Amino acid sequence: MDDEVSRLHMDALVVDTHCDTLKCLSPRFTHPRDSMWDDRSTLGFGERSSLGHVDIPRLREGGVDCQVFAVSSARERAPPYPLRTALEMIEVFNRECERNPETIAPVTCHREIVEAVEGGRVAAMLSIEGADVIEGELSMLGVFHRLGVRMVGLVHSLRNLLADGVTDRRTGGGLSELGVQAVEEMDRLGVIVDVSHINDAGFWDVMEVARGPVIASHSNCRAICDHPRNMTDEMIVALAEGDGVMGMNFAPSFVHPTRPSVETMVDHMDHVVELVGPDHVGLGSDFDGIPSTPVGLEDVTKMPSITVELVERGYREEDVRKILGGNHLRLIKQVIG
Ligand SMILES: [Zn+2]
Repeated sequence: MDDEVSRLHMDALVVDTHCDTLKCLSPRFTHPRDSMWDDRSTLGFGERSSLGHVDIPRLREGGVDCQVFAVSSARERAPPYPLRTALEMIEVFNRECERNPETIAPVTCHREIVEAVEGGRVAAMLSIEGADVIEGELSMLGVFHRLGVRMVGLVHSLRNLLADGVTDRRTGGGLSELGVQAVEEMDRLGVIVDVSHINDAGFWDVMEVARGPVIASHSNCRAICDHPRNMTDEMIVALAEGDGVMGMNFAPSFVHPTRPSVETMVDHMDHVVELVGPDHVGLGSDFDGIPSTPVGLEDVTKMPSITVELVERGYREEDVRKILGGNHLRLIKQVIG
């Protein structure tokens, strides 16, 4: 790699708004579909592993400065105790941060991210993927906020008490009353509302209810790859008009039906930039949550190949920095503080 491009990548503050690594580090989780979700709990997050996609040494090698870690409790993937499962995953997160104080720091606001990065550490933020974990109690949002969660997706793949997921497209259901109240409570708490995984009707309801900008932490463009987890152009325009940001997902089936690669992933970035300019796109890899990866993005150490591709396509340095993390940081500062 060109030294100058490599320097640009390592110098930029790189933010990734979604990985499922806590699932791999939590011993209760086993994934039915793929042996990639081997139990890595005994290995620990500070050790470089050849399993999965993300650990601290590989985050640093890939130049990722701020990683959002999802606490997830989808019914098809978790035992039927969503709240308890989420709390256990947060315990795993905190334990791993405490074990590796020199290399990773839990963060809850923009200032803490900057401080962690200046101190040479990876900034680690918690999100919730699927508010099933609040078990219908809005007060749990406040509890999770106190535990450090700063981003919440209302729904994972399947319908819950708040909203319908993308696999519920047939129902066309939008937000429930509780879902509307949850968005209002997140606004009040300063928690970013995440629209990845929600169905189209729910997305539009969120856009109506949310006061601040929202995030699609790990979603791509339906115009480039027609998958329900990706967003239509109308949705992308609405997200951008609200000053939101979408993190590009590396899941092969969301990137390209036959040729998933770093190039075809960056095609999604190009599309967003053509539609709404360079201020609304970022990274949301979904590493450790995807059964396979695009060519050239085999794990988090390959993040610099995105910078190479952007520079080759003629992106200005200023815009490369925005896409690598500046846009996500702006959103974080605006919503969380
Ligand atoms: Zn997801």
